[in-house]
Amino acid sequence: MSGLEDLYREIILDHYRSPRNRGELEVPPAVRVEGFNPLCGDEIVVYVDVDDASQGDAAVVTDIRIGGQGCSISQSSASMMSAAVKGHSIGEIRDLTKSFKSMMSIHEEGLDSDSDSDSQEDSSAAELKLGDLEALRGVVKFPVRIKCATLGWNTLQQGLDEALSS
Ligand code: ZN
Repeated sequence: MSGLEDLYREIILDHYRSPRNRGELEVPPAVRVEGFNPLCGDEIVVYVDVDDASQGDAAVVTDIRIGGQGCSISQSSASMMSAAVKGHSIGEIRDLTKSFKSMMSIHEEGLDSDSDSDSQEDSSAAELKLGDLEALRGVVKFPVRIKCATLGWNTLQQGLDEALSS
């Protein structure tokens, strides 16, 4: 068990020390959104480029950059997220976000009220590869840190909504 926890800690530190997709994108065409977690002082800035927002959830995130500062959990989670979502459609990213948040044991209102027709989608969402994101699994043991882990994801969702509505 401790071997796995060591591995997870290593993955988190690797993303913290060498964050993926760090930087900025030109706005516009990119959308820029900021997220803040006052409990911990974490700050995440997400720049996201979406190709053809008129396609709605089929539109693809062609590029993403992350800025901001904060604890290792918030920054490594945003780094892993950026690597996981780049090149994927907004629909796929919403599924991945659901998978990640359910791993974080966050059951927001609305997720459970989905109709039965969505249950197929949910099973395919579970098949989406969380990859390095699995390393954050241990965070659920520290409820105060869950907001650190989900900050980047909530910020990205806000950016995707903005990209689709612009
Ligand atoms: Zn934090």
